[in-house]
Amino acid sequence: MKKINRRAFSVLLLALLVIAGMVLYVMRYVDHGKDWALAFSRANSGSTGELLDRNGVVLASFSATRNDYNPDPEIRIANYHVTGDYWGRTGTGILSTYWNDLQGFSLLTGTTEAVDKSFSLNVDAELDRAAYRALAGRKGAVLICDYTNGELLCMVSTPAIDPADPEAVPEDGAYINRCLSAAFVPGSVFKLITTAAAIETIPGIENRQFYCEGVTEIAGVEIKCTGDHYSQTFEQALANSCNVAFAKISTLVGQDAMIRYTRDYGFLDGHSLDGIPTAAGSFPLEFVGDPELGWAGIGQSTDLVCPYSLLRYVSAIANDGVLCEPKLIRDGELSLRYRMIEKRTAELLGQMMSYNVAYHYRDTVDFGGLDLCAKTGTAELGDGTSHAWFTGYLQDEAHPYAFVVFIEQGGGGLSAAGAAANEILQFAVNR
Ligand SMILES: [Zn+2]
Repeated sequence: MKKINRRAFSVLLLALLVIAGMVLYVMRYVDHGKDWALAFSRANSGSTGELLDRNGVVLASFSATRNDYNPDPEIRIANYHVTGDYWGRTGTGILSTYWNDLQGFSLLTGTTEAVDKSFSLNVDAELDRAAYRALAGRKGAVLICDYTNGELLCMVSTPAIDPADPEAVPEDGAYINRCLSAAFVPGSVFKLITTAAAIETIPGIENRQFYCEGVTEIAGVEIKCTGDHYSQTFEQALANSCNVAFAKISTLVGQDAMIRYTRDYGFLDGHSLDGIPTAAGSFPLEFVGDPELGWAGIGQSTDLVCPYSLLRYVSAIANDGVLCEPKLIRDGELSLRYRMIEKRTAELLGQMMSYNVAYHYRDTVDFGGLDLCAKTGTAELGDGTSHAWFTGYLQDEAHPYAFVVFIEQGGGGLSAAGAAANEILQFAVNR
């Protein structure tokens, strides 16, 4: 009897060990199966294919024996954050995100079947080159999309690397896609959100006057402006980017409504660009007093904005308040559409952004023949430097482009990012 018990116990122990082993294997498979298959498939797959831009320019090609990139080094670097590389060093590139698809890998069976697969993208590789040149060695991000259909025409993040040069020593932050994977202090581009919230929550705001003599006090705390703007309309306050007026407007809107609009316009959440996750932003969500709320309404405080979220917002403003969700992949599927902003609010914002350019910006940058609606941002970082932002869209049926230009610690919004945006947009419309 004792012997039988002992044997039964051994069998039970053995069974438990087998079960535990299987559980461990399944857990590891779920965790690492993709990597195992990836490592195998990168070496052995018989799949072939190409990654093409919207004009058929080959950005990358692969076969059983060879993985290649475009022969032009500047095109490779300018488009690095679109393509990624064969080793997945940047998580946001198409080669990383879609490697399984490109290789015919099935997660269900864990096997790879040789396929011939090509991917066409909405991006224009030459426009990326123009954006890369306009950034001129500075760290930054450029995004352009067609706001009538969501096609993402330009996505450049610098610094980047040459994916064809395995010896390349990456500059600090070269693997981060600043367009999608990071959020920055927005400065005055955030006033576009405060403006929309004010239009909808403060009756008659369009007819109010705001007075600025360079500085104001809110609950005993000083808020400084960039100049003396004296008496100004709501429209002029945005064109002047007056901090005194917008700190006041922010407190009139109130923190709850400011949070609601920031969230509704998609600034607090991450999004998905054809399966590539994007960074969430931030705004003070815990109660803060009026002085801090004033700073938050002018894009300082703890505000952070991902350039991609800003692109979605200005695209919706440009398209009467309806967002066509940006698409990187050219697969014939229609972009998702939804109303992000009330129609009247979007129209008023558009008029005010057009006025910004006519009333103020053209004095500094010659925007040539562009029919431009825009907003600048010079986001102070507390160490004496500032991020330069310029965002908006073209009122041009042949070139319905919404854009974001961001230069990290780039100085003045208009003089740095505005000038770069002009260079890129001139190239885009004369293409
Ligand atoms: Zn002012």
